[in-house]
Amino acid sequence: MISINNLYKNYGKVEAVKGVSLEIKSGEMFGLIGPDGAGKTTIIRTMCGLINPTKGIVKLLGIDVQKHRKEVQRNIGYLSQIFSLYGDLTVEENIEFFANIHNITDYKEREEELLNFTNLIEFKNRLANNLSGGMKQKLALACSLIHKPKILFLDEPTTGVDPVSRRDFWKILADLKKDGITIVLTTPYLDEAERCTRVALMDRGKILDLDTPEKLKARKIGEIVEIITTEIRRSYKLIKENFNFDVQLFGDRLNVIIDDHVTDLKRIGDLLNKNSIEILNERVVSPTLENIFINVLQKVS
Ligand code: ADP
Ligand code: MG
Repeated sequence: MISINNLYKNYGKVEAVKGVSLEIKSGEMFGLIGPDGAGKTTIIRTMCGLINPTKGIVKLLGIDVQKHRKEVQRNIGYLSQIFSLYGDLTVEENIEFFANIHNITDYKEREEELLNFTNLIEFKNRLANNLSGGMKQKLALACSLIHKPKILFLDEPTTGVDPVSRRDFWKILADLKKDGITIVLTTPYLDEAERCTRVALMDRGKILDLDTPEKLKARKIGEIVEIITTEIRRSYKLIKENFNFDVQLFGDRLNVIIDDHVTDLKRIGDLLNKNSIEILNERVVSPTLENIFINVLQKVS
């Protein structure tokens, strides 16, 4: 469905994408995951034919995007990271506007279907400006689906959206996937990444790892112990400064990746005690996608 071969993109001196290759199959929900500046948006915009690669070839549905941009764009929907709705148009008018862009004249049935599908039917006469963040995002999604695309690109579709609307939005995405539409998305939320069929972990223009969430989580990264102490931030600093362990701070807990349960925990305990910090609780936990990602990131930096 999508094939990217050795993609490079420079913006002047900035090397945003540095040699990315990728195959995405029909019906996948593929996640591009990575910190700000990793190159996610650049890759998505290149796939959509909105920017040209510096080097490399991108094909969608077997068609070279650069050579046949219009033909490719007929088959794809794109939800950009920035709201692209018209605030002074109503819900219905926004959808109709996008239908016009795609030269679709008999859009009424599809519009109705999309309004029902996104639960926006009762708000169809409301100005987009007066919608909540979650509703705006659902409207933007409806607009990107008016021409029945085969591939849908979503760039951080739920960033800044409240948790309830986020769940709503994901229900809609699950239905779209069931209908067979191929979805490529970026997200900063790793719980969302876990719902993807496959995930590419990106940093500084490169893919560091790529697999199913299950297989990524099964990567051997040593044993993870969750530790709670009397002074969590100071504990984090001390462990980081004194040992080579991969240590991650999550709110009031530390996750430390160790090799040997008995000796390594004792070394940590001794260090903290020496600094008048007490370990309140410790337990072995299974890795989350977040642990794996931070571990992969730390290995390359
Ligand atoms: P992400 O979406 O993962 O945050 P981007 O693809 O937006 O990453 O950006 C990758 C890198 O390219 C960043 O360093 C960013 O500053 C740079 N960049 C993106 N767009 C432009 C542009 N239009 N001009 C110059 N630099 C850009
Ligand atoms: Mg981005």
